[in-house]
Amino acid sequence: MILLGSHVSMNAPDFFLGSAKEAVSYGANTLMLYTGAPQNTKRRPVEELKVGEGWTCLHEHDIREIVIHAPYIINLANTVKPEIFELAVQFLTLELKRSTAMGSKILILHPGAHVGAGVDAGTQSVIKGLNEVLDACPDGMIALETMAGKGSEIGRTFEELAAIYDGVVQNNRLRVCFDTCHIHDAGYDIVHDFDSVIGQFDRLIGKDQIAVFHINDSKNERGSHKDRHANIGEGFIGFDALHAIVHHADFVSVPKILETPYRPDPEHPGQTLPPYKEEIALLR
Ligand code: FE
Ligand code: FE
Ligand code: ZN
Repeated sequence: MILLGSHVSMNAPDFFLGSAKEAVSYGANTLMLYTGAPQNTKRRPVEELKVGEGWTCLHEHDIREIVIHAPYIINLANTVKPEIFELAVQFLTLELKRSTAMGSKILILHPGAHVGAGVDAGTQSVIKGLNEVLDACPDGMIALETMAGKGSEIGRTFEELAAIYDGVVQNNRLRVCFDTCHIHDAGYDIVHDFDSVIGQFDRLIGKDQIAVFHINDSKNERGSHKDRHANIGEGFIGFDALHAIVHHADFVSVPKILETPYRPDPEHPGQTLPPYKEEIALLR
């Protein structure tokens, strides 16, 4: 059976148990979460997060695999402000330890933004940072996310990700998170020719390195470098292409995670509702 789930929240008082219940309520059989707010580094100790209770709930529903996403503020590619790089290394080290303690084999990371210093300088900085983090943590893998190429983001081409693999000593502990919206916005034609996009990826990195998919439609045309997610079937990628990726024979056992936008709640103006239960049903 394909592994399909969504991003879920983790809030007091139930924390990971709440995340597990949320995933179950969507009919998901995998899930993704952040260990705290994605925009900051405030984190509770893992002991307070009801991890055991959450896993008991997941196992009762036959869910065996979760993924964790590192916060956006981590920028290993920043060579302009050394304190940003240092914070990124420290925080990513803690975050990788936290994710393995929570039972995730994979921590998803945005490679970073070079903030004007250029792709080469940024890439060397990402490599240096990843080497430090992987040396400091005995366990866990980091999945580099494919990026849309917004601003000075690194990771908008497979070549840029391959360059990171080339420099990382323990690159057996790297993987890739393949985000459909980002890949489309970066310029790859996954609508008409997914197999040749995967062929390119396979030659540069190896398709067995894809450890997670983010399944999102895109509000913009191919190559727009915008990174604005759309609901399934309501963007420029479209339902048929996304459905084919979700069911692709090469990636049956790879978790697929929806990060589509919440919809307006018709009964409560100004509030929103998650689309995940309906979208998961639609894609299964
Ligand atoms: Fe991401
Ligand atoms: Fe994503
Ligand atoms: Zn995105």
